[in-house]
Amino acid sequence: MSRVVNPAKAGPAKLDDRAWYLCSAKETLLAQATTAQGLSPDEVQRRRAAHGENQLQQAPGVSSWHIFLAQFKSLLIWILIAAGVLSAVLGDVVDAVAILAIVLLNAGIGFYQEYSAEQSIAALRKMSTPQAKVRRAGSLITIPALGIVPGDILVLEAGDLVAADARLLECAALKCVESALTGESNAVDKQIAPLTAVDAPLGNRSNMLYLGTTIAAGTGTAVVVATAMRTELGRIAGLIDDAAGDETTPLERRLESFGRVLVWAALAIVAMLFGLGALRQTPWYELVMSSVSLAIAAIPEGLPAVVTVALSVGVLRMARRRALVRKLSAVETLGSTNVICTDKTGTLTVGEMTVRALHVAGTGYTLSGTGYAPEGEVVRDGKPVSAEQTTALIELATVLVACNNAQLVHEDGDWTAIGDPTEAAFLAAAGKLGINREQIDQQLPRQSENPFDSDRKLSSVIRRTPSGASRVYVNGAPGELLARCTQIYTGDGVRALSDADRSDILKQTSLLAQQALRVLASAKRELDSASEHDLDAESVERDLVFVGLSGMHDPPRAEARPALIRCREAGIKVVMITGDHAETAIAIARVLGIAGADDVALTGRELDALSDADLQRRAVDIPVYARVSPAHKLRIVRAWKANDAVVAMTGDGVNDAPAIKGADIGIAMGRSGTEVAKQAAQMIITDDNFSTIVAAVEQGRGIYDNIRKTLQYLLAGNTAELALMMICVLIGLPMPLLPIHLLWINLVTDGLPALCLATDPIDPDVMKQRPRHRGERIADRNFLLMMLFTGMITAAVAFAVYLYALQHGSVEMARTQAFAVLVFAELLRSFGARSDTRPVWRIPVFSNLNLVLVVLVTFSLQIWSQQSEMLSGLLKTSLLPFGDSLILLGLGTIPLLALEALKLIRNRRRARREVVVTR
Ligand code: ADP
Ligand code: MG
Repeated sequence: MSRVVNPAKAGPAKLDDRAWYLCSAKETLLAQATTAQGLSPDEVQRRRAAHGENQLQQAPGVSSWHIFLAQFKSLLIWILIAAGVLSAVLGDVVDAVAILAIVLLNAGIGFYQEYSAEQSIAALRKMSTPQAKVRRAGSLITIPALGIVPGDILVLEAGDLVAADARLLECAALKCVESALTGESNAVDKQIAPLTAVDAPLGNRSNMLYLGTTIAAGTGTAVVVATAMRTELGRIAGLIDDAAGDETTPLERRLESFGRVLVWAALAIVAMLFGLGALRQTPWYELVMSSVSLAIAAIPEGLPAVVTVALSVGVLRMARRRALVRKLSAVETLGSTNVICTDKTGTLTVGEMTVRALHVAGTGYTLSGTGYAPEGEVVRDGKPVSAEQTTALIELATVLVACNNAQLVHEDGDWTAIGDPTEAAFLAAAGKLGINREQIDQQLPRQSENPFDSDRKLSSVIRRTPSGASRVYVNGAPGELLARCTQIYTGDGVRALSDADRSDILKQTSLLAQQALRVLASAKRELDSASEHDLDAESVERDLVFVGLSGMHDPPRAEARPALIRCREAGIKVVMITGDHAETAIAIARVLGIAGADDVALTGRELDALSDADLQRRAVDIPVYARVSPAHKLRIVRAWKANDAVVAMTGDGVNDAPAIKGADIGIAMGRSGTEVAKQAAQMIITDDNFSTIVAAVEQGRGIYDNIRKTLQYLLAGNTAELALMMICVLIGLPMPLLPIHLLWINLVTDGLPALCLATDPIDPDVMKQRPRHRGERIADRNFLLMMLFTGMITAAVAFAVYLYALQHGSVEMARTQAFAVLVFAELLRSFGARSDTRPVWRIPVFSNLNLVLVVLVTFSLQIWSQQSEMLSGLLKTSLLPFGDSLILLGLGTIPLLALEALKLIRNRRRARREVVVTR
């Protein structure tokens, strides 16, 4: 820092200066011309116009021009261009023009595909950009971080990303991880008092928050002092490279190296045949052209585009089904997922809670009413409650509301909740007893809080009593809370908590949990002095007075059961992981069919007692983990991975990030998830719904399937061409196909159907198969067998046609017929290639309309080239009587029929094997 000024004194014109940590919160607000209530919409607009989007400048994306040039990177294209130039030099202008036209067409298609893939990925990335909570014109709203302007009031809690540089206004137990800026990985404590050290290094500016850092714990508000490139991160970074843009997936890399092997193999064959031709003293022009033809025949030109297209179209389809993929490589891994570790609350269940039972002063009550409406009755065994009982109930309701951050909203006759559903349910329950938030806030002003975190499983708020003393109110998991209680509220006073009381409370907890209710306990304590309100959770949440229990209902999602059944059929194991009580968890797991009658839940405490090796051994048999904290999740992921599983793990909290990162597929909740969890995840499900995860796995499998079958289709075509050409060269026949024919097949009559296959609708049977093994090769034995078999049959048919025609006519005529039968065979086979197992008549033809259209168009072009002088000149074919075309078409069905026969035989064999296995 070169120069220090006091920005407060410099006035609003100096919005950008950086010594805000020397100013008080008030001075900063003043200098930013804003208030704690936030900016008005007009003011936001004005500042947005003045300051622009809150976004770091990015390295320019891949330009269209760049994508176009990339199409000419392949060696093959240059072989082709050389062949074209050679033909031109030798006077064959038509050939030269045709070759170059096809090269350009190929580049054009490749460009279009890659360009739209790029666009769709960019659109997707936009959907998963970070969000921020700000207060504007007095109300709290969530906006994309892009829209933040200087003077905005950020509202932050654990798990949030800090979306701009800001001066803290308020904070409670706020801790921030600033490793992106300072390299320090431990969370640092924040406070609000101005600093005096004029040149405080960034890491010491404890009253400031910086873009790119994250909130590890606590809550706070802050006023934005700098956005975009004017932030500390912006100044350091200058240009942030968006590395995700040119990410290649493992599959793409494997295919790329596979492609390289193919090119070299092709070149070797060409060299060999070249030598052979030279020995035979073939004229060199013919030799060169036939070598070029062979190289073209061997190399699948459509291959790279196929993968890009299949992945990008697949990812868009997933987004439409509410699964946002943040990394392309996730698609591949998704398809081989065989264990899904999922949250319970909100993912398997609806996540909308209603308190059904209360227990206070030794008496249990039930509540009527649905949803978050604070309307309903509280009864005891069907009888209305007495005045005395009401006093005790109100005591409990007061704790529920006093320790609470949620809000109920009444709109169009509908009650909805803002904030934590658990806490909203408390508000609704208290409302049924006539206690509401405003009332409590007025009587007992709020002083400070220790927000809920899933490690502590408690949450507490300190309030000032009318007498001026302080009192802490605590809600949380019964076991955790009871361990911190020493006294109990009895309805008409407080007494010491006996062992009998403890076991009675635990018994009541258990009874409620067995009814699949989520049980929470409430407690309070008078603090010794008013100054005690500044203490941390550890020191206020002790020596508490136990008040009561509440049991809340959170029904399983209707979609969860069918999704779970699909998982079972698909050979995917589902593991429920929850911070909830073991008995609640197991009760819900049984309802959903995750756990059987004999299964029990493993609790976090039991898990702590297991060594990693023991956990690895036992993990396969444990369907439910309860009372776990985020750190346990990582151990569970590791245990499964050690068992060679491909694990998907969900998470939402800031502490879930390590487990999300550690899993093969980290999944963040789009709605309840924190920004930190989302940044760590490979996939975000925008509806927090378990069935969306299953749908994503299905898509992952389908995309892989599509890539596989497309490759098989393309490579079988190349096999056919190569085999046909080699046989003819070896026995010294004239070339059956000219370069232009091969190009036409590879890029048009094979290439276009291949693109349609790559985007085929997903086979409904994909979820009836076992998960693919991690690292399984795409080109396994079956794949190669099918490819060689269909390729060879096609070659044989074309060779037979060629031989026959050679004997009855000119070489041109024979070429025309061999060319035609090959094209027809490939077009027809594309329909059979849509499934590895299902016979072609079982695949609905019109479910892939693009394929039908492409086949019809190319088919017509082929027929036209046999009828019209114009096209036949270009494609170097002779005219054919229409009847002959029909005969060739008939012969072209042979490879398709052979493929179908092979499928049938394999299905039979598989069925027989399965019978043996099931016996
Ligand atoms: P899950 O989401 O798997 O149910 P959590 O980690 O959210 O688990 O919660 C664990 C436990 O912490 C809950 O069973 C409950 O007892 C307690 N709890 C949850 N939310 C709150 C809250 N807002 N305030 C106090 N305690 C809570
Ligand atoms: Mg939770």
